[in-house]
Order: sequence, then structure tokens, then C-alpha cells
Amino acid sequence: MRPPSVDSLANSIRASGLPHQLRVEAARRSIANNDHENVSTYARDIYDDLLRPVINGTGVIIHTNLGRSPMNPDRTYPTSFRYSNLELDLAHGKRGSRDKRVGSQIAGYIGAESAIIVNNGAAAILLVLTALAFDRNVLISRGELVEIGGGFRIPEVLESAGAHLIEVGTTNKTRFRDYENAAKDSNAVAILKVHESNYRMIGFTENVPVEKLKTLGLPVIFDIGSGLLDDTVPWMGWPKPSWLKDEPGARQTIQSGASIVTFSGDKLMGGPQAGIIAGKKDFVETCASHPLYRALRPGNLTLDALGETLFAYLDNRAGQLPLWKMAKTSPEELRKRAELMGVGRIVKLKSAIGGGSLPGQEIDSYGIALKGDLTSELRRTEIPIIARMKGPDTVIDLRTVDAKDDAYLKSALCEFD
Ligand SMILES: *Cc1c(COP(=O)(O)O)cnc(C)c1O
Repeated sequence: MRPPSVDSLANSIRASGLPHQLRVEAARRSIANNDHENVSTYARDIYDDLLRPVINGTGVIIHTNLGRSPMNPDRTYPTSFRYSNLELDLAHGKRGSRDKRVGSQIAGYIGAESAIIVNNGAAAILLVLTALAFDRNVLISRGELVEIGGGFRIPEVLESAGAHLIEVGTTNKTRFRDYENAAKDSNAVAILKVHESNYRMIGFTENVPVEKLKTLGLPVIFDIGSGLLDDTVPWMGWPKPSWLKDEPGARQTIQSGASIVTFSGDKLMGGPQAGIIAGKKDFVETCASHPLYRALRPGNLTLDALGETLFAYLDNRAGQLPLWKMAKTSPEELRKRAELMGVGRIVKLKSAIGGGSLPGQEIDSYGIALKGDLTSELRRTEIPIIARMKGPDTVIDLRTVDAKDDAYLKSALCEFD
């Protein structure tokens, strides 16, 4: 029997919601595999490849594979989709700077003179080093020559920025004296500090705080990575959660005398993917006027979402940002939600912050366990559910599930219980 035509197959999967060309693609693939009866599976594969919302049942709050920080899904960002005053100064009718507003608000919040925004944390550090240290020497502790993840290695970033790396100290111990000697001998223009976001060195270790480093008279650039805006976390209430104890705050980093601080927008700031460069006006200005900035600057979607996130901080309601809300929820509340769902078995779990921040720090949590490995089935439910294995069970940690999704989760899990 002759297989049906590509067109009729493509038409038969209209309900997939895929645009015509992608339905044709599914039809072609199924015919090529002599498998046209299963054309809807091919459509489904294409559909699964599209960017879609998922339910994060992993308990990892800042999950890089799942888009890091969640943001408020009920917020609309009207200026992102319409004409806006992106580069227009409304007061004077002149050309304005696109990220000046949110940049200066962030600077204001963390007590820096000035700030600009780029597309991510990696771009921030790349721009800073290129603008401030191209063909110059930069001091960095051997303990901070780290790989952040996704192949982002500090020595390689320095190299791509055209900066010359001067290694100081040893892997586990770098003393002030090491920096002092290196500063004398090397003609360095800056000291780079990198927060060891994704690992911890314990035991016989030493490193030098910004307060001390700045006495050498060189500008200190600190890549704090995670973007905790204020390490006293007033939005988390008192006492400060112990899992945040080693995380440097942007405000405190500036206070301690760093000339530049860089961080991501979508880790502990709880906003969209972005990179923030904040600090001394002259240095930030040098970054902003470098040609590379033009290539790394974000669009209004990012700026809109970042501005909205910052408003939550300025308005003392950062605790309501989805990231912090999830982090704050008591285990008791999660246990109650699990009970209410009445599906599977209620289990005690440990959530993690993730996003390469706070390794080893865990938060008590509750979730639901189902027998056997259902992770791939759950990924293929209508709104994919990303679960993990714990021993022989599939578990869904409720800390990272929006309570609004509980009803859906319950109905989806019932099928496997
Ligand atoms: C995450 C991180 C980066 C990279 O930031 P992205 O936003 O992922 O590009 C750089 N430095 C440190 C210390 C980080 O933790």
C-alpha cells in the first residue's frame, strides 16, 4: 500500500497545534521511517523540542536547565511588546540610554555609584576585563581560577578579554603578602576576585577580603556571581537562613571597597537572565563606552523584567518574588500541600538552591514519592513534570512547584499512582 501523502498526514495532525511547516516536517520524518501510522509521535517530538513551561519538581530552586529563577507568571510586561522610551529621554526629548533607568536603580539599591546591564554574568565579566584590562596584567588568586559551569573558565575568560593573568598564592592559601608582592612586581591594573560559587574549599585555606585588598591601591573587581543584592536579606525575616551564610552581597561588596562588582540577574536576584556591572562611575562608564557593550546589551524584554524585579526590592516586597517565596516556604506548609493532594506517599526531602550557588547547603522540604522510575513518563505529561529519583522512587519536591500547579500535579500523578 502506498503511504498517504505528506500533505494529508500533515493535515491529520492539526490538533498538535504545530505550525504547518513543522507538521510537514513530522509527516516527512514518519514516512522516511516507514512509520506514518505514528505520525503524531513525530509531531510530539517536535512539540517537546519547543520552549515550553514545565513543572520543576526537582527541589533545585535555581535550576539552570529549567531557566534558573522563576518570575511572576501573572505579570505582563507591556513595554516589551510595544514602542517604548527604550532610548528616549522623555523629559528632554533627546536620545537616552537604554539601561540607565534600571542600572541606576540597581546602583542605588546596592549603594554603588553607577551600573549597567548586559545579557548575562559571563558577558559582564568579559566586558569589564576587556574594557579595563585589555593587554594589561590582572592579579587573581590561584584559588579562584575556577570553572563556573558550561565551560566558563575564568582563565579562559581573561584570555579572551586580552588580559594577562598573574596568578597569586596557591590553590588553598592566598595571603595578603602574595598580592602585595605580585602588585609590586607586575604592573597590574586590577585585582580580580571570583566567588567560588559552585564549590567550597574547606580545611587549611585562606583568602583575602576586599577590605584588605583595596589597601594595595589597585581597583578590585569582584565577580560575586549569584547576585545576592544584600547579604542581610531583610526580605527573609530574622534570623537569616543559615544556608545563605557564605554568600557575598552586592551591597556589602561595594561597601567593603570593591571598585566593580559583577553578578547575574537570574540567580539569587530572582530576575531574568542578565548580567550587572556596578561600581565606580568612571569604571562603569569605561565599560559602557567600549564597543563590546553594544554587542552585549540586552533588549527591552530583559530590562522590563529586571526593572520589575528590582521594584520588588525597592518596595520591600522582595520576599514575594517567586524565588524567595519558594526558598522561604516552611517544610510544614509543603507537607500540608502534599497531604491535600492525597496522591502517592509523602516524603521528607532536601531542596537545594542550585544555579552554582551555595553548594552543600540544603533546605528541609516535603514532596511526593511514587514507586519506580516514572521520570520519563512525567516529562511527557501535558505540562511536563521534572521529577528526580530517590532510591527506587520517583520524587517530586513541592518546594519548587508553584502552589497554583498543585491541582494539575495531582491530576497528572493520579494516573501513575
Ligand atoms: C554564574 C556565575 C557566572 C556566570 O554567570 P551567567 O549569568 O551564567 O553567565 C560567573 N561568575 C560566577 C562567580 C558565577 O557564579
